Amino acid sequence: MTSATKNVTNKPDAAEFVTQIVPQPRRAVLAMPEYHPPLAGRDALRLDFNENTLSPSPRVLERLRQVTAEGLTKYPEREGVERIAAEHFGLQADQVLLTNGVDEAIHLVCAAFLEETDEALISTPTFFMYEVSVRMMTSHLTRVQADASLEFPYQRFLAAITPRTKLILIASPNNPTGAVVSRDHLLAICAAGPQAVVMIDEAYYHFFGETLFSEVGKVPNLLVARTFSKAYGLANLRIGLLTGNTALIKFVRKVSSPYNVNGVALDCLPVALADDAYVAWYAEQVNAGRARMMDGLRALGVGFFPSHANFVLMKIGAKHAELVRAMRARGILLRDRSTDPGCDGFVRITIGVEDHVTRGLAALKESLQEIGWAK
Ligand code: PMP
Repeated sequence: MTSATKNVTNKPDAAEFVTQIVPQPRRAVLAMPEYHPPLAGRDALRLDFNENTLSPSPRVLERLRQVTAEGLTKYPEREGVERIAAEHFGLQADQVLLTNGVDEAIHLVCAAFLEETDEALISTPTFFMYEVSVRMMTSHLTRVQADASLEFPYQRFLAAITPRTKLILIASPNNPTGAVVSRDHLLAICAAGPQAVVMIDEAYYHFFGETLFSEVGKVPNLLVARTFSKAYGLANLRIGLLTGNTALIKFVRKVSSPYNVNGVALDCLPVALADDAYVAWYAEQVNAGRARMMDGLRALGVGFFPSHANFVLMKIGAKHAELVRAMRARGILLRDRSTDPGCDGFVRITIGVEDHVTRGLAALKESLQEIGWAK
């Protein structure tokens, strides 16, 4: 459309329409980063996203077969399942909020607690969704970078807490490193910033075994998150749990939709929780597989960060992308973490059940040889 015709019709063309008329979001939304995990084409052995590589408990599959047409027509009821989950974990029902994965828990915590002028604190490298959700609310995100050891930078982190710090997010075990923070250090961080909400993300708890659940309600500013996406194998149902003292959880519940977790996930959760033996078996598979993977990497001369989670971060160097391609050609997906801060040349491999670790290791050996990798 020419400007002459535009004057006649007085209507902008489509492209102009978008820039001229569409309302703009908050400045924070324009500035926040986006997270685009490489999800396309994952029909392969999935050693890239730290999911359970096999299946949830067979009891969950049985429960899914009982889903009815009428059941699908109903809005989900979260409260009863929150009571069951609370009892399972020795918590009070009003200390528990079920969420659409830990992703949503992070989002809701940021929405509930962060003003535009508040500061949030994370260590890097870590799970990227912390940055996305924090920056949705405030530009004041302080990142404390780990040194070359990739251990949690405890002393510098503690020193970075200021009176303006309103939210502290820590994953222990951390992703993508597998590093952990001791219970004493986590409690010292809570004590150092009493005005801040401290959210400890225990997404990888089952592969480590230490938890702050026992401190819930005792430490007033503590929130703890757990996911059912990893050991429980329910990543596709999207369910997580957030717990903390009743007052904090009440604020987070206030900003959540009453229907944030779908009814199929809510139906399955009690069954998954009841099958403790399955989760223990899966965690055992991972823990044995992780030891085998780390031994295998040592034998191959590949450096790695000693992990407490269901993955190992390998130091590959300049040929990181070549390795990921060579593995994909063998039907195995890895996750290149090179763009994470301090992780140039690092590639992450998920640890699954025994057979998957065996296949991963065999393909690694072949792929490293094929790309001419040398230490
Ligand atoms: N926290 C951490 C540390 C993670 O690594 C992940 C998954 N990549 C999540 C949370 C997200 O968990 P969910 O599937 O429950 O949203």
